[in-house]
Formats: sequence, structure tokens, C-alpha cells
Amino acid sequence: MRIDEIIATRAPTFSVEFFPPKTEEATAQLYATARELAPLEPDFVSVTYGAGGSTRDGTVEITTALKDEVGFETMAHLSCVGETTEGLAATLDRIAAAGIENVFALRGDPPRGQEDFVQPEGGLASAAELAAFIGTRWDFSVGGACFPEVHPEAPDLETDLAYLKTKVDSGARFLITQLFFDNQVYFDFVRAVRARGIEVPVLAGVIPVASFAQTKRICELCDASIPAPLEAAFAAAGGDPEREFELGVAYAAQQCAELLIGGAPGIHFYALNRAPATRAVLGALRASRPWERVRGAAGSLAASAE
Ligand SMILES: Cc1cc2nc3c(=O)[nH]c(=O)nc-3n(C[C@H](O)[C@H](O)[C@H](O)COP(=O)(O)OP(=O)(O)OC[C@H]3O[C@@H](n4cnc5c(N)ncnc54)[C@H](O)[C@@H]3O)c2cc1C
Repeated sequence: MRIDEIIATRAPTFSVEFFPPKTEEATAQLYATARELAPLEPDFVSVTYGAGGSTRDGTVEITTALKDEVGFETMAHLSCVGETTEGLAATLDRIAAAGIENVFALRGDPPRGQEDFVQPEGGLASAAELAAFIGTRWDFSVGGACFPEVHPEAPDLETDLAYLKTKVDSGARFLITQLFFDNQVYFDFVRAVRARGIEVPVLAGVIPVASFAQTKRICELCDASIPAPLEAAFAAAGGDPEREFELGVAYAAQQCAELLIGGAPGIHFYALNRAPATRAVLGALRASRPWERVRGAAGSLAASAE
């Protein structure tokens, strides 16, 4: 099923992002995680696309297996890095032939060791160009990335939102945010997005922290900030893995509940191919259904986030 239709009929949605593993052991771990999360019925799962096309085949293969063998609705990520339009077309044909209906269109990050994105010879320059290219020949439901704390390469929010509008006008039917920890950042961003005339759903990207050191590294890579009180709470855990896990899960559950009460149309979990933290948070959300509560103080935000 197409993700834009899933969001339209089932919101709030819950989705999980996986990345293609590099070893046999990690592959087994990924499928074990997928099977552990399956009873919680994520509305869809997505599989990332490695820098420089390093996981191109793996992305299509795993997206297909998660659909055919585990029974998830799936989305394949695709980036412009290191690809000609012929190469992109070949991958899109493979995705379509596998019966996958959803593609996440990205410009992508440069390969390791390369500072800036360079438009490949015969290739595309941005996610908007990729979304438009997909629309010329394929009938996928296309999603795009967005950055509540502003993309690191954008000079300011207004410029970033202008590009985001181009991406949506080029065919992105829904957006998924970069991970964030401060919900106010999301609500303010969605307001700014709506003020720009961008009407598509904005799913909130949330990472249930299982290891603080790993999460800090990820935040540094993607320029996501960690609020000082959260950083202090993790510091107080003193590097104890169990305490970090407990804090990460409790924080994410609370964060998601507030987002959903405030009108977020869905939560996209950055699960890092591990089940326990996401399972705990998603299980608690499915059981408590915070989005059905009367939208009290946060209710005024609901309309802007949908
Ligand atoms: C939910 C999510 C999933 C992701 N999955 C992957 C993945 O699978 N693989 C991967 O490699 N990376 C992934 N990323 C990271 C993403 O590729 C990087 O953040 C990358 O730097 C930007 O990609 P984009 O699609 O947002 O690019 P774009 O939307 O093209 O934007 C990139 C930058 O260029 C600017 N820009 C856009 N258009 C123009 C223009 N016409 N002229 C000048 N500047 C312009 C934007 O403001 C922005 O600063 C993901 C990010 C998110 C939030």
C-alpha cells in the first residue's frame, strides 16, 4: 500500500527505519529485530541507502525481504550520490519490479572521506530533482526528508523551507524529520512549514536512545541538538548501559506521547536495527493511545501538525 494513503487513512502511523547490515551476523540481527517488532504492527518500515551507493543492492534486497518474508509495508530509500540517471532508473525499475510502492527520495550524504556533495556527471543535484525524476516514469508514493533544526548546509530556515517547498512541489507526498529531542522544535517547524504553504504530513523522527555514546555520535553527524537537561540526565547515568536504556526508553515514550497529543500524524523510529528500545516505546504507545486523549493544553498545536 502507498504510504501517503496509509497516513491519510490510519494516522497516527508508526514506522521503523532499518539500515542494510554489512555482515552475516548483522543481517541475522536485522531480521530477528524485524520479527520481534512485527507483532506491534508498524504501519511501514524503511531501509536506508548507503553513501555512494554502497548499499544499493542491499537496500532493494532487504526492502523486498521485509515485505515478502516478514509482511511489512516497505519503503526503499534512494539517493543521488554517485549515480547517473540511468543508474537511478535501473534501481527504480528493480524496486518497482519487487512490488515496492514507496521510495524515499534523498540527495544523500557524500561518501566517507568526501566533504561536500558533488553532483555526479549525468546525475542529479537534489532530492527535489530526484522526486521530479521519479514522477516522470514511475508511480511510487514518494517521501522526502526535512530538518526541524535546519539542514546543516542551508544558510537559514527560510532558504531551507523554500527548497523543501520545491521538493514537495516536485512530488514528495509526505515528509519525515531528522531526529530531534525537543518537541517544541518540531511544533515550531511544522508551523513554519504550513506558513510556507506546504501541506503534506510531517512524520516525527524519534530515536529511542539505547546507548548514549552512540546517539551522541549520530547527533554530531546529523547536527541534531541534545537538550541540556537530557544530556545531564544521561551524564547522571554514569555510563551504566541499563540506566541509559531505561532513561532513553522513558524519554522517548514521553516525547512521542506529547507529539501525538499535539497532533503529529506519525512517529518514525530510528531503531538502529535493534528491537528492545523501540519495542518498549511502541508497545507503551499502542497500549496507552495518547492520541485519543482530549487535546488539552497541547491541542492548539494539533491543526498545525496534521
Ligand atoms: C528521514 C531521513 C532519512 C535519511 N535517509 C538517508 C539514506 O538512506 N541515505 C543517505 O545517504 N542519507 C540519508 N539521510 C540524510 C540525508 O541524505 C542528508 O541529510 C543529506 O545531507 C541531505 O539530503 P536531502 O534529501 O535532505 O537533500 P536536499 O533536500 O536536496 O537538501 C540538501 C541541502 O541542499 C539544499 N538545497 C536543496 N535544493 C537546493 C538547490 N536547488 N540549490 C541549492 N541548495 C539546495 C537544502 O536546503 C539542504 O541544505 C536521511 C535523512 C533523513 C532526515
